[in-house]
Amino acid sequence: MSPEAVLERLHHEGVKFLRLQFCDILGTVKNIEVAQSQFAKALKGEVMFDGSAVQGFTRVEESDMLLRPDLNTFLVFPQFSTLEGERGKVARLICDVYLPDGTPFEGDPRRVLRRQIERAEAMGLSLHCGPEPEFFLFERGERGEGTTRTNDHAGYFDLAPIDRGERIRREITNKLVEMGFEIEGAHHEVAPGQHEIDFGYAPALQTADAISTFKFVVKRVALEYGLLASFLPKPVAGVNGSGMHCHLSLFRDGKNAFDDPAGEYGLSPLATQFVAGLLEHAPGMVAVTNPLVNSYKRLIPGYEAPVNVAWSTSNRSALIRIPAKRGNSTRAEFRMPDPSCNPYLALALILAAGLDGIQEKLEPPPAIQRNIFKMTVREKRHHKIRELPGNLSEAVDALERDEIMVAALGEHLQDHYSAAKRQEWAEYSATVHAWELERYLDLI
Ligand code: ADP
Ligand code: MG
Ligand code: MG
Ligand code: MG
Ligand code: MG
Repeated sequence: MSPEAVLERLHHEGVKFLRLQFCDILGTVKNIEVAQSQFAKALKGEVMFDGSAVQGFTRVEESDMLLRPDLNTFLVFPQFSTLEGERGKVARLICDVYLPDGTPFEGDPRRVLRRQIERAEAMGLSLHCGPEPEFFLFERGERGEGTTRTNDHAGYFDLAPIDRGERIRREITNKLVEMGFEIEGAHHEVAPGQHEIDFGYAPALQTADAISTFKFVVKRVALEYGLLASFLPKPVAGVNGSGMHCHLSLFRDGKNAFDDPAGEYGLSPLATQFVAGLLEHAPGMVAVTNPLVNSYKRLIPGYEAPVNVAWSTSNRSALIRIPAKRGNSTRAEFRMPDPSCNPYLALALILAAGLDGIQEKLEPPPAIQRNIFKMTVREKRHHKIRELPGNLSEAVDALERDEIMVAALGEHLQDHYSAAKRQEWAEYSATVHAWELERYLDLI
């Protein structure tokens, strides 16, 4: 769409406010909202903001930055409440962040992803991703505070009336469809109160934008129903956590480049090299794909979340599974990421890892077809199966040791990211947790 066409639609739809969105290094969506008189200026990319208040944007030099809207991301928000309707329609554009001299800002997560997409393009390839974000719907307390009480007792794929979340999930789906999402499926997940909504796969940048929009819509609709939607990876101990499996494939000239009927498992060398790159760099990227202290409480054995660095064409205990479909649906399912990640950085590192596998012609270890959770330590050692870092601190160490992942993030972003995560770990480590008191206070 051209700036004129967007301006025309803004007027035609009677939009009152335009949100210029971008995100900080942790993936939190930020926005600057402008009123009608500023629309033309905003579309020209002339709206400035002070980057020094944004996490990970701080620079030694001056902090003024420009927001250049990506016109492909234009959408008018549906009404989430009647009160909102009275205030006037709101539209949004997702923006790339630039410095006043016209160069892209290296700390912008969207920029980091764009760099890898350009690398892939130079090789004639484009990454497509179909994510499966999971989340919990929790009740709110009397003063509106969040709780971890779930509002239903249903399980995987259960039907109403047991699944009280179904009504809300349907409402979320409706809103997403109004906003142009192609919803492939929505169902109750394994744990009480846990849900999954899958949307159609798309090129990586579009998918990253869609994930951040998706999280906003889910939270917004849940709020309207008095519930709390949370993408925290492991909000309740003892039940499955929330992941965000990413189905990945490379396309070349409009055709799936992973598909090769003549190859082993029907996969092309490109596919196995991509898988090998993902396995090689999984420990280095996990600090980004699984960014919270809490993320590592999901990555434990026994809850369908991966722990071991391995791939499989059949088994869901592996880090990477190759689903059975071939042809244009040939893909690798990367089961590690969780929905608390910054989707731009996560997809950037996934792509960087896969491209490294291709450039270095890496070969993956043999696929493991057995349930890895049931293997002994010796068997795992025999198959050379490594484990992922066990906590956020180990994950940041692994990131800093992985030159390919560090280069993909770029110096500015990697510095700020590591510092933020080390700080998070330090705060967590300095806290005395309920578990410690329960376990030791009386005993010692
Ligand atoms: P699961 O069996 O793991 O639950 P789902 O059926 O829920 O998987 O989700 C499959 C996902 O894979 C969808 O998001 C779908 O759009 C996506 N997908 C299908 N084909 C491709 C492809 N070629 N590349 C990437 N993603 C794909
Ligand atoms: Mg699914
Ligand atoms: Mg599923
Ligand atoms: Mg699922
Ligand atoms: Mg899956």
